This record gives sequence, C-alpha cells and structure tokens, in this order.
Amino acid sequence: MDTKAFKRSLHQSDNYHRKGFGHEEAVAGQLKTEYQSSLIQQIRDNHYTIRRGEVTIRLAEAFGFCWGVERAVAMAYETRRHFPAERIWITNEIIHNPGVNQRLKEMNVGFIEVKAGQKDFTVVETGDVVILPAFGASVQEMQLLNDQGCTIVDTTCPWVSKVWNTVEKHKKGSYTSIIHGKYNHEETVATSSFAGKYLVVLNLKQAAYVADYILNGGDRDEFMAQFRNACSQGFDPDIDLEKIGIANQTTMLKGETEEIGKLFERTMLKKYGPLALNQHFLSFNTICDATQERQDAMFGLVDQPLDLMVVIGGYNSSNTTHLQEIAVERDIPSYHIDGPERIGPGNRIEHKRLHAELTLTEPWLPEGAITVGVTSGASTPDKAVEDTIERIFELKVTAPVGS
Ligand code: SF4
Repeated sequence: MDTKAFKRSLHQSDNYHRKGFGHEEAVAGQLKTEYQSSLIQQIRDNHYTIRRGEVTIRLAEAFGFCWGVERAVAMAYETRRHFPAERIWITNEIIHNPGVNQRLKEMNVGFIEVKAGQKDFTVVETGDVVILPAFGASVQEMQLLNDQGCTIVDTTCPWVSKVWNTVEKHKKGSYTSIIHGKYNHEETVATSSFAGKYLVVLNLKQAAYVADYILNGGDRDEFMAQFRNACSQGFDPDIDLEKIGIANQTTMLKGETEEIGKLFERTMLKKYGPLALNQHFLSFNTICDATQERQDAMFGLVDQPLDLMVVIGGYNSSNTTHLQEIAVERDIPSYHIDGPERIGPGNRIEHKRLHAELTLTEPWLPEGAITVGVTSGASTPDKAVEDTIERIFELKVTAPVGS
C-alpha cells in the first residue's frame, strides 16, 4: 500500500479529525477536577519534597502526564461532548493508565476487544466514531475504519507521527528501518506498518548481534529465528541490511537508543567507509522530549539517598517500566504499581517486579524514618500520585508534622 498517499487522502476527508472540536475550555475544567492535584503542586513548590512524621517523600523533578497524553485525553473528552449520541470506540487504551481508561468507559466509550491476539472490529458500524490513541494505530486499522465509513478522531502524538515520517523517508530511499522498540507494542506495530523493510531490535544486545551479522555474516536461520516476529515480511538479513535507517519507539530509554544509533553508524562506517556512509546509513533524532525529561529526572532522583522507590504507571506502559529499570539498576528497592489502590490494606503492596508477574509484599514499608522516592510515567495523572503519597503517609504517620 502507498501509505503516504493513503494518509494524505485520509487527512483530507471530512470524517477525519486530528484537532479538538472547540470544547477546550469546558474539558480543561473537567480534566483539572478529575486528574490534577493541589498536594502535588505544593510539593513541586517545596523543591519536590514533603515530610510528614517519619516519612520524607522526594518527587522526581519531571514525572506524570506528558503533553501528548494530556492532549489525547482532552481530545477524547471533547469527542464525547461533540458526539453525545453516537457510539464511540477507542482502538485500544487511550493511554496506558487504568484509571483514565475506566473513566472513559464510564462515559460510555467502548474499547475494541482483543480476541485470540487480534482486535475485533466487527462491533464497529458505519457512522460510529473511533478514537485512535496517543501512541497511534496501524495504517491497516485506519484503512479498515475509513472503509467502514467511521468518523476517525486521531489523537496520535505528533512525536509519534514524526517517527512515522522518518520511516517513510527510509522507505523512499530503500533503507531498511531498524526500529529500537518492542515489536508487539502498539506504537511500534503502528510505526512498522508505515515502514517498508524493517527490523525491530529490543536492546543493545540484539543491536550488537545485528551489527555483527552486518560485518561478519552468520547463521541466517538463527538470525531469522531470533527476529521471527520482529521483521517485515520477506526480510532477508543477507540482502536487507545493506542500507539502514534508525527509528525508535518514543518511550525507549534515550541513552540506549542513542547507543544503538552510534553502534550502527560505526558498523556501516567500518563496512562501507566514510565516503559511502550516507548511502548506507540514515539517522534522525526522534527521541521524545517528555520521555527524555522523565528519564533524566529519574537519574537525578536516584542519585539522592533513598530507602525505596515507588514508580506509578500502567503495567503495559513502556516509559514507566524504563523508570523502574533505572531504580533496579541502582539496587534501590522499587515498587511499580499502576495506581494507589495497590497499597494496603495494612502495610502491604501489590506490585509488578521488572519483567515478572504481580507480587504481594508485606510488610513493604520499613520501620523508622524513611525517604521514599516517587515518580510516575507519562500516562499517570497527578491525582494518582497524590493518592499514592497519602496512602504512604497513612501507613506511617500518626500525627502530620507538615512539609
Ligand atoms: S511520551 Fe512523548 S511521544 Fe509519547 S505521548 Fe508523551 S509526548 Fe508523545
């Protein structure tokens, strides 16, 4: 499919919207009431610290809702106001936050179900309104919804669209897109749908394996077994790695994306020499500012003396998991929860260990004076952070001492 031409024609359609509907003011008030927090503002104003009794909370200096997520949620709320009687669907979660998704369900917005690994679009009828989430949707989904005669409200974050434009450029120049991401994450699924040839690498280790294959060749079958689900149809490592371009899932660890880019640049330089480098290697900076800021703030936070960390965000949120990774790498006991409800009753917490299942830990808060670092992923509203902090205080504090 000519994805560029399809996108152009979709953007011109009267049934396609990627801006709000003029209800910004009303929705802003609603979002403020539902998701913002005066306590968090107070903590921000107090150098990101609050102390009550034996508990000191240190907040990361950048955390929570990024503007792309705020924009997507606001557009979803506006859509509900603008189409009060129509059936509204979201092709997935609007963002990776259970509380926000639940709120939309209460507003009678339906979520497309996944059955046997496939989204079931049979429920969508002509005239329905379908919202595409902040991390986008694949071009095939957009086409299906367009063919079905739906109204499409596209909340895809412009940073994600920037990556799509990058892989379109790779495709135009017959470069294979090497995408740093998780091959089955919604955003990467969408990005790869716009790419021509592509290969998704999860981390530096996989990237090093590919780089070695480029320089020295290797076992083709082993290569294909490793990337079976993470490459374009018909991909051949002996042919399709001669010209490569770098792209990324916007929420991967920034440092790792940069290292992967540099690794492939060195690899192609070694193989083809400086004069021919541009014919074999393309790289554009597509790391999202918000992800970068949250990761940098987390590095700042874990440099301070902390007894433990609480990381708040959806369990399927990639950027939240990366924040957790930073704490784990520093050997700080770290608890990843998807909302304040995971704390209690009593001194217990239900949390997700890195790349593992949910676990119950009791007791989790040690006795005596403690300093707790707190951060949250880009899909987490301040209200969830406030409620988490209040629960920690409740567990430890007998009489508030003030901030
Ligand atoms: S994390 Fe970045 S790319 Fe993702 S929605 Fe937020 S601003 Fe957009």
